[in-house]
Amino acid sequence: MEQKQQTLPARKNIALVAHDGKKAALQAWCSKHKDDLSRHTLYGTGTTGHLIERNTGLEVIKLLSGPMGGDQQLGAKIAEHEIHMLIFFWDPLASQPHDPDVKALLRLAAVWNIPVACNEVSADMILSSSLMHSELERTLPDYEKYLATRQVNL
Ligand code: PGA
Repeated sequence: MEQKQQTLPARKNIALVAHDGKKAALQAWCSKHKDDLSRHTLYGTGTTGHLIERNTGLEVIKLLSGPMGGDQQLGAKIAEHEIHMLIFFWDPLASQPHDPDVKALLRLAAVWNIPVACNEVSADMILSSSLMHSELERTLPDYEKYLATRQVNL
């Protein structure tokens, strides 16, 4: 499929997700970067979002809990271009009952070419980028063009 360009805004919609074994680490990361994060709009899966709000004071738009559909809600918002960045501290040392949803969320982030960090060091690097607080160009699949060039075979 051909690609097209789109501009991500300076104020980004950032999704925050952490598996249980990584929730403390993500809360600590959010506390450390509270000032930077408060310049953006934060979304989170249910439990992660509640814990971050309670322990950091940051405002988070909370979706369903991940295993109850929250990961899929975030994936849909990435596909609809509502989420611009994903910070996902998944736990590589624990199996998850909702592993297909986890995989789907990471897949959609790759399909739509949004910045993704899956550990603290990557999240630090993304947040320290000058692009964090300015507009950012991304390429993404041009589905409208693909559809327009399809032959209709009845
Ligand atoms: P939770 O979901 O924040 O509701 O725990 C996280 C996850 O996707 O596992």
